[in-house]
Amino acid sequence: MDDNPQMQQQELVGLIYMDHAATTPTHPEVWREMSLWFHEYFGNPATMYALGDICEVAVEKARQQVASLIGAEADEIYFTCGGTESDNWAVKGTAYAREAKGKHIISTPIEHHAVFDTCKFMEKQGFEVTYLPVDSYGMVAPDDVAKAIRDDTILVTIMHANNEVGTIQPIADIANVTRESEIPLHTDAVQTVGKIPVDVNDFQCDMLSISAHKFSGPKGVGALYVRKGTRIEPYMHGGGQERKRRAGTLNVPGIVGMGKGAEIAASHLAEERVRVAALRDKLRDGVLDQVPDLRVNGHPTERLPGNLHLCVEGIEGEAMILCLSMNLICVSSGSACTTGSLDPSHVLLAMGMPAEMAHSSLRLTLGSESIEAHIPYFLDVFPPIVERLRKMSPTYKAKG
Ligand code: PLP
Repeated sequence: MDDNPQMQQQELVGLIYMDHAATTPTHPEVWREMSLWFHEYFGNPATMYALGDICEVAVEKARQQVASLIGAEADEIYFTCGGTESDNWAVKGTAYAREAKGKHIISTPIEHHAVFDTCKFMEKQGFEVTYLPVDSYGMVAPDDVAKAIRDDTILVTIMHANNEVGTIQPIADIANVTRESEIPLHTDAVQTVGKIPVDVNDFQCDMLSISAHKFSGPKGVGALYVRKGTRIEPYMHGGGQERKRRAGTLNVPGIVGMGKGAEIAASHLAEERVRVAALRDKLRDGVLDQVPDLRVNGHPTERLPGNLHLCVEGIEGEAMILCLSMNLICVSSGSACTTGSLDPSHVLLAMGMPAEMAHSSLRLTLGSESIEAHIPYFLDVFPPIVERLRKMSPTYKAKG
Protein backbone atom coordinates (compact mmCIF):
# COMPACT_ATOMS: atom_id res chain seq x y z
CA MET A 1 0.00 0.00 0.00
CA ASP A 2 1.15 3.61 -0.67
CA ASP A 3 2.69 5.46 2.33
CA ASN A 4 0.68 8.59 1.64
CA PRO A 5 -2.44 8.50 3.89
CA GLN A 6 -4.58 10.14 1.19
CA MET A 7 -3.54 7.55 -1.38
CA GLN A 8 -4.16 4.80 1.17
CA GLN A 9 -7.69 6.06 1.64
CA GLN A 10 -8.09 6.29 -2.15
CA GLU A 11 -6.90 2.69 -2.56
CA LEU A 12 -9.68 1.69 -0.21
CA VAL A 13 -12.38 3.47 -2.17
CA GLY A 14 -10.98 2.87 -5.72
CA LEU A 15 -11.35 5.27 -8.66
CA ILE A 16 -13.39 8.32 -7.75
CA TYR A 17 -15.64 8.74 -10.75
CA MET A 18 -17.48 12.05 -10.56
CA ASP A 19 -18.35 12.53 -14.22
CA HIS A 20 -21.63 10.67 -14.71
CA ALA A 21 -22.91 13.43 -17.03
CA ALA A 22 -20.14 12.46 -19.50
CA THR A 23 -20.96 8.77 -19.40
CA THR A 24 -21.79 5.95 -17.01
CA PRO A 25 -20.31 2.46 -16.70
CA THR A 26 -22.36 -0.22 -18.43
CA HIS A 27 -24.26 -2.18 -15.80
CA PRO A 28 -22.99 -5.81 -15.51
CA GLU A 29 -26.49 -7.16 -16.13
CA VAL A 30 -26.61 -5.04 -19.30
CA TRP A 31 -23.39 -6.35 -20.85
CA ARG A 32 -24.20 -9.90 -19.75
CA GLU A 33 -27.51 -9.63 -21.60
CA MET A 34 -25.85 -7.98 -24.60
CA SER A 35 -23.15 -10.61 -25.10
CA LEU A 36 -25.52 -13.31 -26.45
CA TRP A 37 -26.56 -10.99 -29.28
CA PHE A 38 -23.00 -10.58 -30.53
CA HIS A 39 -22.22 -14.23 -31.13
CA GLU A 40 -25.09 -16.65 -30.51
CA TYR A 41 -27.99 -14.63 -31.91
CA PHE A 42 -25.98 -12.46 -34.28
CA GLY A 43 -28.69 -12.22 -36.94
CA ASN A 44 -30.12 -9.26 -38.78
CA PRO A 45 -33.68 -8.56 -37.57
CA ALA A 46 -34.70 -7.62 -41.14
CA THR A 47 -34.13 -11.18 -42.44
CA MET A 48 -36.93 -13.74 -42.85
CA TYR A 49 -35.50 -16.87 -41.22
CA ALA A 50 -35.76 -17.83 -37.55
CA LEU A 51 -32.45 -16.26 -36.47
CA GLY A 52 -33.65 -12.89 -37.77
CA ASP A 53 -37.02 -13.35 -36.09
CA ILE A 54 -35.37 -14.00 -32.72
CA CYS A 55 -33.42 -10.75 -33.10
CA GLU A 56 -36.56 -8.88 -34.09
CA VAL A 57 -38.35 -10.14 -30.98
CA ALA A 58 -35.42 -8.95 -28.83
CA VAL A 59 -35.47 -5.50 -30.46
CA GLU A 60 -39.23 -5.19 -29.88
CA LYS A 61 -38.80 -6.16 -26.22
CA ALA A 62 -36.18 -3.43 -25.86
CA ARG A 63 -38.45 -0.94 -27.61
CA GLN A 64 -41.13 -1.69 -25.01
CA GLN A 65 -38.61 -1.34 -22.14
CA VAL A 66 -37.48 2.08 -23.40
CA ALA A 67 -41.06 3.18 -24.05
CA SER A 68 -42.10 2.18 -20.51
CA LEU A 69 -39.34 4.31 -19.00
CA ILE A 70 -40.83 7.47 -20.55
CA GLY A 71 -44.55 6.58 -20.64
CA ALA A 72 -44.60 6.21 -24.44
CA GLU A 73 -46.11 3.60 -26.76
CA ALA A 74 -43.52 1.16 -28.15
CA ASP A 75 -44.20 2.23 -31.75
CA GLU A 76 -43.29 5.83 -30.85
CA ILE A 77 -39.66 4.78 -30.13
CA TYR A 78 -37.10 4.87 -32.99
CA PHE A 79 -33.62 3.54 -32.28
CA THR A 80 -30.67 5.71 -33.32
CA CYS A 81 -26.92 5.68 -32.72
CA GLY A 82 -27.21 8.02 -29.72
CA GLY A 83 -28.30 11.39 -28.39
CA THR A 84 -26.45 13.33 -31.08
CA GLU A 85 -28.27 11.57 -33.91
CA SER A 86 -31.63 11.86 -32.15
CA ASP A 87 -31.13 15.63 -31.72
CA ASN A 88 -29.97 16.10 -35.33
CA TRP A 89 -32.90 14.08 -36.63
CA ALA A 90 -35.50 15.92 -34.54
CA VAL A 91 -34.32 19.36 -35.71
CA LYS A 92 -33.47 18.64 -39.34
CA GLY A 93 -36.29 16.11 -39.86
CA THR A 94 -38.92 18.52 -38.54
CA ALA A 95 -37.48 21.50 -40.40
CA TYR A 96 -37.54 19.67 -43.73
CA ALA A 97 -40.99 18.17 -43.11
CA ARG A 98 -42.53 21.56 -42.30
CA GLU A 99 -40.56 24.09 -44.34
CA ALA A 100 -43.54 24.77 -46.59
CA LYS A 101 -45.24 26.33 -43.55
CA GLY A 102 -42.27 28.42 -42.47
CA LYS A 103 -38.59 28.48 -41.65
CA HIS A 104 -38.51 29.74 -38.08
CA ILE A 105 -37.17 27.62 -35.20
CA ILE A 106 -37.09 28.54 -31.50
CA SER A 107 -34.33 27.22 -29.26
CA THR A 108 -32.01 28.39 -26.45
CA PRO A 109 -28.35 29.37 -26.25
CA ILE A 110 -27.68 26.69 -23.60
CA GLU A 111 -28.47 23.60 -25.66
CA HIS A 112 -25.95 20.79 -25.99
CA HIS A 113 -23.90 21.17 -29.17
CA ALA A 114 -25.92 18.34 -30.73
CA VAL A 115 -28.87 20.77 -30.89
CA PHE A 116 -27.03 24.11 -30.82
CA ASP A 117 -24.70 23.34 -33.74
CA THR A 118 -27.58 21.76 -35.66
CA CYS A 119 -29.53 25.01 -35.27
CA LYS A 120 -26.47 26.94 -36.49
CA PHE A 121 -26.32 24.58 -39.50
CA MET A 122 -30.02 25.14 -40.21
CA GLU A 123 -29.37 28.92 -40.22
CA LYS A 124 -26.90 28.33 -43.07
CA GLN A 125 -29.67 26.39 -44.89
CA GLY A 126 -31.92 29.46 -44.85
CA PHE A 127 -33.83 28.82 -41.60
CA GLU A 128 -34.04 31.48 -38.92
CA VAL A 129 -33.46 30.55 -35.28
CA THR A 130 -34.53 32.59 -32.25
CA TYR A 131 -32.38 31.79 -29.20
CA LEU A 132 -34.45 32.60 -26.11
CA PRO A 133 -32.80 34.35 -23.18
CA VAL A 134 -32.08 32.38 -19.99
CA ASP A 135 -31.75 33.79 -16.48
CA SER A 136 -28.62 33.53 -14.33
CA TYR A 137 -29.63 29.98 -13.31
CA GLY A 138 -29.93 28.94 -16.95
CA MET A 139 -33.75 28.83 -16.77
CA VAL A 140 -36.05 29.57 -19.74
CA ALA A 141 -39.36 31.41 -19.14
CA PRO A 142 -42.39 29.84 -20.87
CA ASP A 143 -43.69 33.39 -21.47
CA ASP A 144 -40.61 34.07 -23.60
CA VAL A 145 -41.48 31.03 -25.72
CA ALA A 146 -44.98 32.47 -26.25
CA LYS A 147 -43.55 35.87 -27.21
CA ALA A 148 -41.12 34.34 -29.73
CA ILE A 149 -43.75 32.30 -31.62
CA ARG A 150 -44.59 33.63 -35.10
CA ASP A 151 -46.82 32.50 -37.94
CA ASP A 152 -43.84 30.85 -39.61
CA THR A 153 -42.54 29.02 -36.50
CA ILE A 154 -42.25 25.32 -37.23
CA LEU A 155 -40.35 23.90 -34.23
CA VAL A 156 -39.48 24.65 -30.61
CA THR A 157 -36.49 22.70 -29.29
CA ILE A 158 -35.55 23.19 -25.62
CA MET A 159 -33.51 20.75 -23.55
CA HIS A 160 -34.97 19.11 -20.45
CA ALA A 161 -31.88 19.44 -18.23
CA ASN A 162 -28.63 21.14 -18.98
CA ASN A 163 -25.59 18.87 -19.16
CA GLU A 164 -23.26 21.47 -17.59
CA VAL A 165 -25.10 23.28 -14.79
CA GLY A 166 -27.91 20.73 -14.33
CA THR A 167 -30.84 23.18 -14.46
CA ILE A 168 -34.15 21.48 -15.30
CA GLN A 169 -36.53 23.36 -17.61
CA PRO A 170 -40.32 23.54 -17.11
CA ILE A 171 -41.05 21.44 -20.21
CA ALA A 172 -44.72 20.81 -19.37
CA ASP A 173 -45.33 24.58 -19.06
CA ILE A 174 -43.49 25.20 -22.31
CA ALA A 175 -45.61 22.48 -23.97
CA ASN A 176 -48.77 24.32 -22.88
CA VAL A 177 -47.56 27.24 -24.95
CA THR A 178 -46.48 25.23 -28.02
CA ARG A 179 -49.67 23.11 -28.02
CA GLU A 180 -51.83 26.23 -28.10
CA SER A 181 -50.02 27.32 -31.27
CA GLU A 182 -49.86 23.77 -32.68
CA ILE A 183 -46.08 23.89 -32.97
CA PRO A 184 -44.13 20.66 -32.40
CA LEU A 185 -41.94 20.63 -29.29
CA HIS A 186 -38.71 18.64 -29.12
CA THR A 187 -36.79 18.20 -25.89
CA ASP A 188 -33.30 16.81 -25.45
CA ALA A 189 -33.75 14.63 -22.37
CA VAL A 190 -30.38 12.88 -22.66
CA GLN A 191 -29.36 14.01 -19.16
CA THR A 192 -32.65 13.20 -17.46
CA VAL A 193 -34.02 9.91 -18.80
CA GLY A 194 -33.18 7.20 -16.26
CA LYS A 195 -32.21 9.75 -13.61
CA ILE A 196 -35.42 11.61 -12.81
CA PRO A 197 -39.02 10.88 -13.85
CA VAL A 198 -39.60 11.68 -17.51
CA ASP A 199 -43.10 11.08 -18.88
CA VAL A 200 -44.05 12.19 -22.36
CA ASN A 201 -47.71 12.37 -21.28
CA ASP A 202 -46.90 14.83 -18.49
CA PHE A 203 -44.57 16.77 -20.78
CA GLN A 204 -46.88 16.70 -23.80
CA CYS A 205 -43.79 17.04 -25.98
CA ASP A 206 -43.80 15.72 -29.55
CA MET A 207 -40.21 14.46 -29.72
CA LEU A 208 -37.70 13.53 -27.04
CA SER A 209 -34.05 12.46 -27.36
CA ILE A 210 -32.55 9.64 -25.29
CA SER A 211 -29.03 8.21 -25.01
CA ALA A 212 -28.33 4.78 -23.45
CA HIS A 213 -24.84 5.45 -22.10
CA LYS A 214 -26.13 8.09 -19.69
CA PHE A 215 -28.13 5.48 -17.75
CA SER A 216 -25.80 2.47 -17.51
CA GLY A 217 -26.52 1.28 -21.03
CA PRO A 218 -23.94 0.93 -23.82
CA LYS A 219 -22.44 3.78 -25.85
CA GLY A 220 -23.45 4.33 -29.47
CA VAL A 221 -27.16 3.66 -29.10
CA GLY A 222 -30.05 5.98 -28.37
CA ALA A 223 -33.61 6.68 -29.37
CA LEU A 224 -35.90 9.41 -30.54
CA TYR A 225 -39.45 9.37 -29.19
CA VAL A 226 -41.81 10.66 -31.90
CA ARG A 227 -45.42 11.15 -30.83
CA LYS A 228 -47.92 9.50 -33.18
CA GLY A 229 -48.99 11.90 -35.91
CA THR A 230 -45.83 14.06 -35.73
CA ARG A 231 -44.46 14.93 -39.16
CA ILE A 232 -40.74 14.25 -39.50
CA GLU A 233 -38.56 13.50 -42.54
CA PRO A 234 -36.19 10.54 -42.26
CA TYR A 235 -32.62 11.58 -41.51
CA MET A 236 -30.90 8.34 -42.57
CA HIS A 237 -31.97 6.96 -45.95
CA GLY A 238 -31.43 3.38 -46.98
CA GLY A 239 -32.94 0.02 -46.14
CA GLY A 240 -36.25 1.22 -44.73
CA GLN A 241 -35.71 0.00 -41.17
CA GLU A 242 -37.57 1.50 -38.20
CA ARG A 243 -40.84 1.74 -40.13
CA LYS A 244 -39.08 3.55 -43.00
CA ARG A 245 -38.10 6.44 -40.75
CA ARG A 246 -34.51 5.55 -39.78
CA ALA A 247 -32.55 3.37 -42.15
CA GLY A 248 -29.60 1.22 -41.13
CA THR A 249 -29.15 -2.34 -39.86
CA LEU A 250 -30.22 -2.35 -36.25
CA ASN A 251 -27.52 -2.54 -33.58
CA VAL A 252 -29.15 -5.52 -31.87
CA PRO A 253 -26.69 -5.94 -28.94
CA GLY A 254 -26.75 -2.19 -28.27
CA ILE A 255 -30.54 -2.00 -28.46
CA VAL A 256 -30.93 -5.03 -26.15
CA GLY A 257 -28.49 -3.34 -23.75
CA MET A 258 -30.39 -0.07 -23.92
CA GLY A 259 -33.63 -1.90 -23.12
CA LYS A 260 -32.07 -3.66 -20.14
CA GLY A 261 -30.51 -0.38 -18.95
CA ALA A 262 -33.93 1.28 -19.18
CA GLU A 263 -35.53 -1.53 -17.17
CA ILE A 264 -32.85 -1.33 -14.45
CA ALA A 265 -33.04 2.48 -14.32
CA ALA A 266 -36.84 2.35 -13.95
CA SER A 267 -36.61 -0.12 -11.08
CA HIS A 268 -34.07 2.00 -9.09
CA LEU A 269 -34.96 5.53 -10.13
CA ALA A 270 -36.86 6.67 -7.04
CA GLU A 271 -34.27 5.53 -4.42
CA GLU A 272 -31.24 6.29 -6.58
CA ARG A 273 -32.37 9.84 -7.16
CA VAL A 274 -32.66 10.48 -3.41
CA ARG A 275 -29.37 8.70 -2.61
CA VAL A 276 -27.40 10.62 -5.23
CA ALA A 277 -28.93 14.00 -4.31
CA ALA A 278 -28.03 13.44 -0.64
CA LEU A 279 -24.40 12.69 -1.58
CA ARG A 280 -24.30 15.74 -3.85
CA ASP A 281 -25.66 17.97 -1.06
CA LYS A 282 -23.04 16.64 1.33
CA LEU A 283 -20.30 17.30 -1.21
CA ARG A 284 -21.63 20.82 -1.91
CA ASP A 285 -21.86 21.71 1.78
CA GLY A 286 -18.38 20.32 2.47
CA VAL A 287 -16.78 22.18 -0.42
CA LEU A 288 -18.52 25.45 0.45
CA ASP A 289 -17.40 25.03 4.06
CA GLN A 290 -13.76 24.35 3.26
CA VAL A 291 -12.98 26.42 0.16
CA PRO A 292 -13.43 30.21 0.14
CA ASP A 293 -14.52 32.25 -2.90
CA LEU A 294 -16.61 29.58 -4.58
CA ARG A 295 -19.79 29.96 -6.52
CA VAL A 296 -22.35 27.22 -7.10
CA ASN A 297 -24.00 27.49 -10.52
CA GLY A 298 -27.35 26.35 -11.85
CA HIS A 299 -30.76 26.44 -10.22
CA PRO A 300 -30.75 25.83 -6.44
CA THR A 301 -33.70 23.39 -6.49
CA GLU A 302 -34.69 22.66 -10.11
CA ARG A 303 -31.53 20.73 -10.88
CA LEU A 304 -30.28 17.23 -11.64
CA PRO A 305 -29.79 15.20 -8.45
CA GLY A 306 -26.11 14.39 -9.09
CA ASN A 307 -24.95 17.74 -10.48
CA LEU A 308 -22.66 20.14 -8.62
CA HIS A 309 -21.27 22.91 -10.81
CA LEU A 310 -18.76 25.32 -9.31
CA CYS A 311 -16.71 28.35 -10.21
CA VAL A 312 -13.49 28.43 -8.20
CA GLU A 313 -12.25 32.00 -8.31
CA GLY A 314 -8.78 32.57 -9.77
CA ILE A 315 -8.13 29.04 -11.11
CA GLU A 316 -8.53 27.54 -14.56
CA GLY A 317 -10.89 24.54 -14.69
CA GLU A 318 -8.31 22.50 -16.63
CA ALA A 319 -5.67 22.93 -13.89
CA MET A 320 -8.10 21.58 -11.28
CA ILE A 321 -9.06 18.65 -13.51
CA LEU A 322 -5.42 17.64 -13.98
CA CYS A 323 -4.58 17.93 -10.26
CA LEU A 324 -7.68 15.94 -9.32
CA SER A 325 -6.83 13.36 -11.98
CA MET A 326 -3.44 12.82 -10.32
CA ASN A 327 -5.46 11.76 -7.27
CA LEU A 328 -7.56 9.45 -9.48
CA ILE A 329 -10.60 11.72 -9.29
CA CYS A 330 -12.45 12.09 -12.62
CA VAL A 331 -14.32 15.38 -13.17
CA SER A 332 -14.97 17.77 -16.07
CA SER A 333 -15.04 21.50 -16.51
CA GLY A 334 -17.87 21.68 -19.01
CA SER A 335 -19.43 19.29 -21.44
CA ALA A 336 -17.25 16.23 -22.17
CA CYS A 337 -17.81 16.82 -25.85
CA THR A 338 -16.13 20.23 -25.84
CA THR A 339 -13.26 19.41 -23.53
CA GLY A 340 -10.08 20.39 -25.30
CA SER A 341 -11.60 23.64 -26.52
CA LEU A 342 -10.14 26.80 -25.02
CA ASP A 343 -13.36 28.76 -25.47
CA PRO A 344 -15.38 29.38 -22.31
CA SER A 345 -18.64 27.44 -22.13
CA HIS A 346 -21.42 28.90 -24.30
CA VAL A 347 -23.83 27.85 -21.55
CA LEU A 348 -22.14 29.89 -18.82
CA LEU A 349 -21.75 32.92 -21.11
CA ALA A 350 -25.47 32.74 -21.98
CA MET A 351 -26.24 32.74 -18.24
CA GLY A 352 -24.46 36.11 -18.06
CA MET A 353 -21.21 34.89 -16.52
CA PRO A 354 -18.06 36.85 -17.36
CA ALA A 355 -15.61 34.84 -19.51
CA GLU A 356 -12.91 34.83 -16.82
CA MET A 357 -15.25 33.26 -14.28
CA ALA A 358 -16.54 30.78 -16.87
CA HIS A 359 -12.95 29.55 -17.31
CA SER A 360 -12.81 28.64 -13.62
CA SER A 361 -15.62 26.12 -13.73
CA LEU A 362 -15.69 22.57 -12.47
CA ARG A 363 -18.50 20.05 -13.03
CA LEU A 364 -18.90 17.21 -10.55
CA THR A 365 -21.64 14.73 -11.46
CA LEU A 366 -22.44 11.91 -9.07
CA GLY A 367 -24.33 8.75 -9.94
CA SER A 368 -24.23 4.97 -9.83
CA GLU A 369 -20.49 4.84 -9.04
CA SER A 370 -20.71 7.33 -6.17
CA ILE A 371 -20.44 6.08 -2.63
CA GLU A 372 -20.36 7.82 0.73
CA ALA A 373 -16.56 7.31 1.11
CA HIS A 374 -15.89 9.46 -1.98
CA ILE A 375 -17.09 12.60 -0.21
CA PRO A 376 -14.52 12.78 2.65
CA TYR A 377 -11.79 11.72 0.22
CA PHE A 378 -12.67 14.53 -2.19
CA LEU A 379 -12.88 16.99 0.70
CA ASP A 380 -9.37 15.96 1.84
CA VAL A 381 -7.86 16.30 -1.60
CA PHE A 382 -9.60 19.31 -3.14
CA PRO A 383 -8.98 22.21 -0.68
CA PRO A 384 -5.16 21.85 -0.74
CA ILE A 385 -5.24 21.71 -4.56
CA VAL A 386 -7.20 24.97 -4.65
CA GLU A 387 -4.85 26.58 -2.14
CA ARG A 388 -1.77 25.55 -4.13
CA LEU A 389 -3.17 26.68 -7.47
CA ARG A 390 -4.36 29.99 -6.03
CA LYS A 391 -0.87 30.73 -4.71
CA MET A 392 0.37 30.53 -8.31
CA SER A 393 -2.60 32.42 -9.74
CA PRO A 394 -1.90 35.93 -11.10
CA THR A 395 -5.59 36.84 -10.81
CA TYR A 396 -6.66 35.46 -7.43
CA LYS A 397 -6.96 37.97 -4.58
CA ALA A 398 -8.16 36.48 -1.31
CA LYS A 399 -11.06 38.43 0.21
CA GLY A 400 -11.18 39.58 3.85
N1 PLP B 1 -27.53 16.01 -25.38
C1 PLP B 1 -27.06 16.16 -24.14
C2 PLP B 1 -27.79 17.06 -23.19
C3 PLP B 1 -25.90 15.50 -23.73
O1 PLP B 1 -25.44 15.69 -22.48
C4 PLP B 1 -25.23 14.66 -24.66
C5 PLP B 1 -23.97 13.99 -24.30
O2 PLP B 1 -23.26 14.42 -23.39
C6 PLP B 1 -25.78 14.51 -25.95
C7 PLP B 1 -26.93 15.20 -26.27
C8 PLP B 1 -25.14 13.63 -26.96
O3 PLP B 1 -25.43 12.27 -26.67
P1 PLP B 1 -24.53 11.09 -27.26
O4 PLP B 1 -23.27 11.09 -26.47
O5 PLP B 1 -25.34 9.85 -27.04
O6 PLP B 1 -24.33 11.38 -28.70
